[in-house]
Amino acid sequence: MYAPRLRLDRMKHVILPGLINSHTHTGMTLMRGKADDEPLSKWLQETVWPIEMAFVASDGFCEDGAMLAVAEMVRGGVTTFCDMYWFPEAAARVALQTGMRAVLGMIIIGFPSAYAGSIDEYLSKGASMMEEHANETRLHFAYAPHAPYTVPDDAWMRIKNLSDSSGLRIHTHLHETRDECAASASLNRDSMSCHQSEHAMRPIANFHRMGLLNKRLIAAHMTQLTDEEIALCAEFRVNIAHCASSNAKLASGFCPIHKLLDAGVNVALGTDSAASNNSLDLFAEMKMAALVAKNVAGDATVVPAAVALRMATLNGAIALGIDDVTGSLQAGKAGDLICVAMDTHAGNSPVFDVRSALVYAASRTDVTDVFVEGAHLVKDSSFERIDEADLVRRAQSWAERINEKFPTAGASVPGVFEA
Ligand SMILES: [Zn+2]
Repeated sequence: MYAPRLRLDRMKHVILPGLINSHTHTGMTLMRGKADDEPLSKWLQETVWPIEMAFVASDGFCEDGAMLAVAEMVRGGVTTFCDMYWFPEAAARVALQTGMRAVLGMIIIGFPSAYAGSIDEYLSKGASMMEEHANETRLHFAYAPHAPYTVPDDAWMRIKNLSDSSGLRIHTHLHETRDECAASASLNRDSMSCHQSEHAMRPIANFHRMGLLNKRLIAAHMTQLTDEEIALCAEFRVNIAHCASSNAKLASGFCPIHKLLDAGVNVALGTDSAASNNSLDLFAEMKMAALVAKNVAGDATVVPAAVALRMATLNGAIALGIDDVTGSLQAGKAGDLICVAMDTHAGNSPVFDVRSALVYAASRTDVTDVFVEGAHLVKDSSFERIDEADLVRRAQSWAERINEKFPTAGASVPGVFEA
């Protein structure tokens, strides 16, 4: 007979599969709020890249950023995150220490950085990280070439071949902005968003040409899509990580998720980084995704609450290729689940329909318990494994160092990450 190790009374709660953040950059959490209300190119060139150039290789920067991100996510009901950042072994250590499930991106970018000097070195460092953690059941891996405008075609082809033989996902930014598509189609090299290809075409067409469109592709953003490109995504079963808040904050545009879902495309949800969102809150993303979709479609019936909930759970697991272990509450899966209080305070009662209550009224602070692989990581809304006071002190100390070096958010330098 089955004897439970733990018995919990959660009489006013909904038990859900843990939420899945399908696109984020945990290390950037230390830049939360450093520069807001700026267009993407200025924000990247004058704030994000210079700060990364100065700090990512510093001892503890990526690890403290990842810890801050994981603490925020896990207490808000996120049990899996799909990460892309420098020194991914830092996020791996944090995931192991905190008990989180992670899909760690083996970052690849077409120029030298503090992390690696060549495509060969990016690939070999990623491979070593994967090898080191090959037996960890909560750590999963994906190739994470940053974007078409930072990775050249020959590197894409190598990554495609590696993915074809290993079966690992390829996680990248794609069609984030109008300029990325227009500059690539006309090969306008004056634009930082022009893809690193000799072919004058939109990046997704170039991906098609190179054989990169398949169910192993996780394409973040996709705000610019024609009907033909949506059909292509459906035909090749491309996964989309929709980042509604980040796109809205940077005025990048709107991913037409109602059309994608109609076409049968798997759409998951991502927060993007805390530097462009500014929170790693999947409850907020569910609501935002549903509301934005209704307005883009001009139709209040599209993306109902149940669909938003599925995008934040099972669709995320499918996108990341880990739906055999997480994403739904099912015998045989790993026990990644959360308890969400309902009908317990003025802001979450009454409850007529649980799915609507979760998506439109609940907030992440209603999450009381979080389990990953059966381990109780958040209990009665408190961390079991994270010293939050110490973490907040470390984050403040990084903020002081960043502000000291970049009091007015930096001059333009050639650079690096995120988009
Ligand atoms: Zn991103």
